[in-house]
Amino acid sequence: MPRPIQALIHPEALRHNLAVLRASAPDARLWAVVKANAYGHGIEHVFSALAGADGFALLDIEEARQVRALGWRGPILLLEGAFELRDLEACSRLDLWHTVHCEAQIDMLAAHKTHVPQRVFLKINSGMNRLGFAPHQARAAWTRLNALPQVDEISLMTHFSDADGPIGIAAQAQAFEAATADLPGERCLSNSAAVLRHGLHAQQTAQSMPASDWVRTGIALYGGAPDFGQSDAVHAGLQAAMSLRSQVIATQQLETGSTVGYGSTFVAQQPMRIGIVACGYADGYPRSCGTGTPVLVDGQPSRTIGRVSMDMLAVDLSDLPASGQGAEVTLWGYASGGALLPIDAVAQAGGTIAYELMCALAGRVPVVADAALPQAR
Ligand SMILES: *Cc1c(COP(=O)(O)O)cnc(C)c1O
Repeated sequence: MPRPIQALIHPEALRHNLAVLRASAPDARLWAVVKANAYGHGIEHVFSALAGADGFALLDIEEARQVRALGWRGPILLLEGAFELRDLEACSRLDLWHTVHCEAQIDMLAAHKTHVPQRVFLKINSGMNRLGFAPHQARAAWTRLNALPQVDEISLMTHFSDADGPIGIAAQAQAFEAATADLPGERCLSNSAAVLRHGLHAQQTAQSMPASDWVRTGIALYGGAPDFGQSDAVHAGLQAAMSLRSQVIATQQLETGSTVGYGSTFVAQQPMRIGIVACGYADGYPRSCGTGTPVLVDGQPSRTIGRVSMDMLAVDLSDLPASGQGAEVTLWGYASGGALLPIDAVAQAGGTIAYELMCALAGRVPVVADAALPQAR
C-alpha cells in the first residue's frame, strides 16, 4: 500500500467558484490565474474545469506551453511579461499576450523580429510599487509601444495592493484612472479580493469596483477566501477545490508529563491518546502549524500536537475514542463524510495564508484528479 496521504482535486468546486466570480463581475472577461502550477493544484488537473474562463494568466512560458498542449486556443497572458528577447519568440510561436511593465521590455519588443504584431498589457504602478510604469510615465510608455510595428492592441492594467483589507482600492483605482483617462484600450484591474469585496454582489461594498474589461482571479477559483478574517470561503459562497487527506498510522498513550515530537514542545497535562499522521513538512504541510492547528479526524474537529516533522505530525485523539489506526485525517478541505476544514483556518493557525499552503503542496503527494465533492456537505 502506498503511503496514505493524498491531495484530492475537485473540478466541481472549480466550476462552482468560477460561476461565483462571474456573477460578481458579470460585465468583465475573466482570466483564470493558473500561475505556480495552478496554485499547486496542477494545471492539467484544473484545465477542463476552468476552460469556461476567457483566458489563462500565468508567468512561465513552460506553463503556457502546457496550456496550449492541453488544447487551449484562447488568450494566454504572461503576467510578468518577457524576461529576455527569446521569450518574445515563444510569444509569437504560442500566440501569447504579455505584460509590459518596464522600458527594457519595450526595448525587447523593438528588437523582436516578427511579422505578426503582439497584444500587450501595459502595466501601471498605481501604488503597489512592484511592477509597472509610474502614472506620469504611462502616456510616454503607451506612445512608445503604439509606434512599434511589433505591437498590436495595447491594454492597460494595474494591480491592487489592498483589495483584501481596510485600505481598499479607491485610491489606486483613481490613480490608474487619472494616468490612463485619455488612453484607448481595454482595462484589466481586479484580483479575487477586488471582485468579491468590491464587485456586484459584494457584502461590504465599501468602494465599488472600477469598470474593468478583464478581471484576474486566482485564489477564489481554488476556494480560498482572499480576505479571511473579515470573511471566509463559506460566507463568500466558495467551495474548496483541494482536500489534503491522510491517515493515522500509529497511536500513542501519553502519561501526564509525557512529551511529543522533536524538541518536546508539547507536554501532556493529563493522560491522553494521540494519533501519528502520515503528513509532514516534506508534503507541504507547514512546520509552523504546530500544536493547536485545526484538523479533522474521521470528520471530527481535533488539533495538532507538538512539532510537525518531515514526514509525520501528531493529532489529539482525547475526545475521539472511536478513532485509531487507519482513521481518516483531513489536513484541509473536505473530509470524505463532507465536513469542511477551510484551508484559510489552517493557514491562519500557522501564521500564513492559504495561497502559500496550496502552492507548497509537495510533488511527492499523490494527486487524485477529478475527485467528487462529498455528498453530505
Ligand atoms: C497572482 C495575481 C493575480 C491573482 O490574485 P488572487 O489574489 O489570487 O486573485 C492577479 N493579478 C496579478 C498581477 C497576479 O500576479
